[in-house]
Amino acid sequence: MNLGRRLCELQELDLRIEKTSETLSRVDHQLNHNEALEKAKSDLEAIQKDQAALQQKQRDAEHAVDDIQAKVKPIQQKLFAGSVSNPKELGAMQQQANQLKKNIREEEDKVLEMMGQAEALQSAAAARAADVNKIERDWADKRTQLQAEQADLMAALESDRKMKDEILSQIDPDHLRLYEKLRRQKQGNAVAKIAQGRCQGCKITIPVSELSQARAGELVQCGSCSRVLCVP
Ligand SMILES: [Zn+2]
Repeated sequence: MNLGRRLCELQELDLRIEKTSETLSRVDHQLNHNEALEKAKSDLEAIQKDQAALQQKQRDAEHAVDDIQAKVKPIQQKLFAGSVSNPKELGAMQQQANQLKKNIREEEDKVLEMMGQAEALQSAAAARAADVNKIERDWADKRTQLQAEQADLMAALESDRKMKDEILSQIDPDHLRLYEKLRRQKQGNAVAKIAQGRCQGCKITIPVSELSQARAGELVQCGSCSRVLCVP
């Protein structure tokens, strides 16, 4: 068994597993977060909240109209009945009735304005609901595509992990510990290939004796960067 080559294979697997895992978590994230859909939904909810608040305000204004009407009614009845003869009292009552009627008109104007606002909100809500529907339909297709991608990535990961287990079972624990230590120190690149007599990790020339040791499959580390050397 050529140790350098095995460790090199292990490193290639580790790098690939890392990359696949990253892609997989990106796909998982995409599957669980559809920002456009979330935004359209929260926009729709905000409009619905405004609609509910406006309905409440409208009801309040309608109640206010009823209340004022209830106040103005007995005054008007008295006025029509002609039971009050004192001109001063009559004038005051007339004035009060006029003021209350004015208040009613004001409240009714408010109700009308709110009805206009309610219409605008209604069409905004309908437009947003249509957006939500469209995004959901498109999302169904995209989701299927992402789920297929997710399944492929998971299968690739499983197969790489099996291969990794097989390689691990063939390597001495001391050598594995060295590999892991170097991996941490060298950002995942514990093993360097030799090309044209140079370490591809640091580009330094490897002495001939070490080159032949590496060729023979022995564990050789680069004298400069300490990476395990491998002859491809
Ligand atoms: Zn080196």
